[in-house]
Amino acid sequence: MALTDSEVLLLMGPPGAGKGTQASKLARARVLTKLSTGDMLRDHVSRGTALGQEAKAIMDAGNLVSDEIIVGMVRSALENRENESVRVLLDGFPRTPGQADALNDLLTEFGAGLSAAVLLEVNEDELVSRLLQRANDQGRSDDNEETIRNRMKVYKNQTQPLIDYYQTRGKLRSVDGLGSVEDVFARITEVLS
Ligand code: AMP
Repeated sequence: MALTDSEVLLLMGPPGAGKGTQASKLARARVLTKLSTGDMLRDHVSRGTALGQEAKAIMDAGNLVSDEIIVGMVRSALENRENESVRVLLDGFPRTPGQADALNDLLTEFGAGLSAAVLLEVNEDELVSRLLQRANDQGRSDDNEETIRNRMKVYKNQTQPLIDYYQTRGKLRSVDGLGSVEDVFARITEVLS
């Protein structure tokens, strides 16, 4: 693998599917910069920026921050990258068809294309129990039961249509997200080989 080549991967899946953990491992293994829109937003919230103040209530309710804000954040991250080539792993973006279209345009503009969209599949009962566990462990303010339910609903309504979107374009790679972190990571590596 020549590191001068562009590679753009995205990790999709419902809240609690393990995207963050797998994204970090995958980024390290393939020498990609992990771009997590959730992490970027949480960073804005903790720094108390204007964007963070606008986003906080939306995030706490489990709703989606506007496409305009999100796409603007991703654009700056791509503009500020260190290398000539685009080597990124997108975690939690895109989440709406509008964001997916915007991503296509951004990648074209930056001279890259999407390599693959990896979907982590986990059933809903397991997701809820994992998220409640995370609430205990990490104390994230959007990991309470009511917000979790809403985030599932938002995922189904707004993000699930992207599965078809990437399937139709021949980019979707589905992976069983149940099992140990190592097992799931091995499956991801397999579908990308
Ligand atoms: P995450 O860490 O990816 O679960 O994101 C946490 C929260 O940040 C979500 O519930 C949304 O409120 C917001 N968020 C993160 N990424 C996006 C995105 N691509 N589009 C809209 N809202 C987002």
